[in-house]
Amino acid sequence: MNKKAFEPPVIKRMTSTVPGKFGSKSQVEPISSIDGVPVADLLEKFGSPLFILSEKTIRRVHQDASEAFKSRYPKVQLAWSYKTNYLDAVCRIYHQEGSWAEVVSGFEYEKALHNGVDGKRIIFNGPDKSENDLRRAIDLDSYIHIDHFDELFTLIRLAREIGKRSRVAIRVNMDTGIYPKWDRFGFNFENGEAAQAIDLIMESGALEMAGLHTHIGTYIISLGAYRIAAEKLARLAIDTDRKYQHKIKYIDMGGGFASMNTLKGAYHTASDTTPSFDQYAEAIAGALQKAGFDQGHLPVLILETGRALIDEAGYLAGQVLATKRLSDSRRALILDFGVNLLFTAFWYDHVLHPVEEVSGFLDEATLYGPLCMNIDVLREQTQMPLFRKGDKVVISKVGAYNMTQWMQFITYRPNVIMIAEDNSVHIIRRAETLETILGQESLPEHLKP
Ligand SMILES: *Cc1c(COP(=O)(O)O)cnc(C)c1O
Repeated sequence: MNKKAFEPPVIKRMTSTVPGKFGSKSQVEPISSIDGVPVADLLEKFGSPLFILSEKTIRRVHQDASEAFKSRYPKVQLAWSYKTNYLDAVCRIYHQEGSWAEVVSGFEYEKALHNGVDGKRIIFNGPDKSENDLRRAIDLDSYIHIDHFDELFTLIRLAREIGKRSRVAIRVNMDTGIYPKWDRFGFNFENGEAAQAIDLIMESGALEMAGLHTHIGTYIISLGAYRIAAEKLARLAIDTDRKYQHKIKYIDMGGGFASMNTLKGAYHTASDTTPSFDQYAEAIAGALQKAGFDQGHLPVLILETGRALIDEAGYLAGQVLATKRLSDSRRALILDFGVNLLFTAFWYDHVLHPVEEVSGFLDEATLYGPLCMNIDVLREQTQMPLFRKGDKVVISKVGAYNMTQWMQFITYRPNVIMIAEDNSVHIIRRAETLETILGQESLPEHLKP
């Protein structure tokens, strides 16, 4: 007979949660399987912790988003935001579904080429493009989105040197009613800088003024902000046509759509506040349809949505390393993954699900990761079932940014697996080992034995 571990009794104040719109949720639902594959089996086979991606979900959400826009606007092109998740297997699914690549560095550009993307279908964004990066992007006919005047002048010089009219867009920042404004990227709309950049491009004759781009922020739940942004870019395009008899080929609305994760400190959960793809599409396509383009020359609408496409497809599974009581008697859980793997814990209230049924009784608990570092907190305080050492757990909706912003710190990064549409399971990034780390190091002669 198993003897139960003794825990001395504590007296604590009972707290009740603030009820949401639909009352207070009394239970955290278990996640015992993903696409029909038991999570316990996956942890057994591939180790703990473990990132899990669902190919079925990636494709379904991409198709939903694509359909929402294509049913409201005749010319739509999605471009996968590499920095959101640039694992090859993920990118290739998006490219198979028809997405171009949207990259923000020389490294990401190389990864897109490695994934077989035609240079003509790469959108090159960001403030950091070296001259070599720019030369290659000109050679391969990519769309280069100019961030600042220094880059604009460099590009004019390079295009003349190479003797090729590079295809460019300008990134535009603007007041959309979202504060603080994102004005560090691109040229400002209200102060006339954006129009001035267009003048320089048109008058240089060295570049092909192909598009207008904006990315107004991230996790934007205001539909009005997108409507305003679309109207302002449309205005610039129409003004350019009047002034130079030159048609802008595309308007790129960037990304920023919210996912179903709830932001820290938000009163309502994301399921109450996050707009659907249909609502975002209605706001953007509606504004472009009404902007006054002649119907034969509607610009292509490009979208670079990242987190809203992939968040739902990602899971992080792991286990409870220990439970303990803090000095004020609060309960704490130590998990085998922390902010080293779950970077988004800094801004989302992630929900920890048990893998197996647990008792319905909930208690306040703090969730810690395994790092020997005070910052490693996943949740300051949340209602948790009474987990015990060894219990398996899952956090859902972690597909965006975690597999790119994770850090190799104190411990290794784990396996990432993908469950394919036929439910077969594949490692898409191997866990790091001592060799992975040592492979990058070298020892000066005088320190060798
Ligand atoms: C990061 C980024 C995106 C994707 O943003 P999400 O908020 O994940 O949708 C799109 N475009 C640009 C230029 C970006 O920097």
